[in-house]
Amino acid sequence: METSIEDVARDTGGGAPPAEPPVESPAAAGPATVADPAGAGDPAGAGDPAEPPVPVAQVPASLSPSRAGDFMQCPLLYRFRVIDRLPEKPSEAATRGTLVHAVLERLFDAPAAERTAPRAKALIPGQWDRLKETRPEVGELFADDPDGERLAGWLGDAERLVERWFTLEDPSRLEPAERELFVEAELESGLRLRGIIDRVDVAPTGEVRIVDYKTGKAPRPEYAEGALFQMKFYALVVWRLKQVVPRRLQLVYLGSGDVLTYDPVVADLERVERKLLALWDAIRLATETGDWRPRPTKLCGWCDHRAHCPEFGGTPPPYPLPVRPAASG
Ligand code: SF4
Repeated sequence: METSIEDVARDTGGGAPPAEPPVESPAAAGPATVADPAGAGDPAGAGDPAEPPVPVAQVPASLSPSRAGDFMQCPLLYRFRVIDRLPEKPSEAATRGTLVHAVLERLFDAPAAERTAPRAKALIPGQWDRLKETRPEVGELFADDPDGERLAGWLGDAERLVERWFTLEDPSRLEPAERELFVEAELESGLRLRGIIDRVDVAPTGEVRIVDYKTGKAPRPEYAEGALFQMKFYALVVWRLKQVVPRRLQLVYLGSGDVLTYDPVVADLERVERKLLALWDAIRLATETGDWRPRPTKLCGWCDHRAHCPEFGGTPPPYPLPVRPAASG
């Protein structure tokens, strides 16, 4: 699967995008873990608020497109993010993606006729302030930029992405049914799927369109299938929740000014479901055995966990969950 680093960063959790739902709720985390023997599941590390948060090990209990993407990219990366919950630094690319998403979402608060590019760009400073309030760590991105030059360039890039959106869609003609919609569905197998859909449009005829914004560039055609995986995942969840197959899946690439659409059919969603069940089996096996293999790719250059990765001479932290030996043969 080829996609841009920027979207990998935002969509797979690099820089801890706030749009990503918590991987598990403590109640759903299954057996108590070594690191969380009481099952309290307080990831903030209850106790002295002056202490930095202590990561709490988690047993995977649900799957989002981002985490499924992590496992497909590198099982060890999945472990570091979902089970060890190792902290990651925010990145400029991921944070810009979060900022642009917030601006596009908030623009729909305005009456249709006022949803203009100047108005959208005017939302950027306020949304940036809000982001710094809710996630103070993103302010550190520009701590070494006393004259604000780099920040100004970064905000300028965000403006250009927002501006490009108006060449691809006309928000004055859209009335989204939902924005930043959290969805969750349980399959018959018990696997819970969850995620956040950027925008859901519903036509007067009842047809549903699922829209996702990407701040990176569109993939080459031979990699489009990988890019659509996330959208088919959402379509499967919507189908399971509402018994309606979305009419259209739409990826809006602000980085390159492209729109990729796909009209799914039931067979597509059944295929994705089978793939996710197989993926979940592999995740459960790795969870039980503690056998999480690194899978190096060019994306390793963007991985925050190289210091813990054997591919880069590092050692993973002790595995925090009980293990059973892998079956032989
Ligand atoms: S550095 Fe590469 S191989 Fe190692 S954990 Fe990160 S993504 Fe996986």
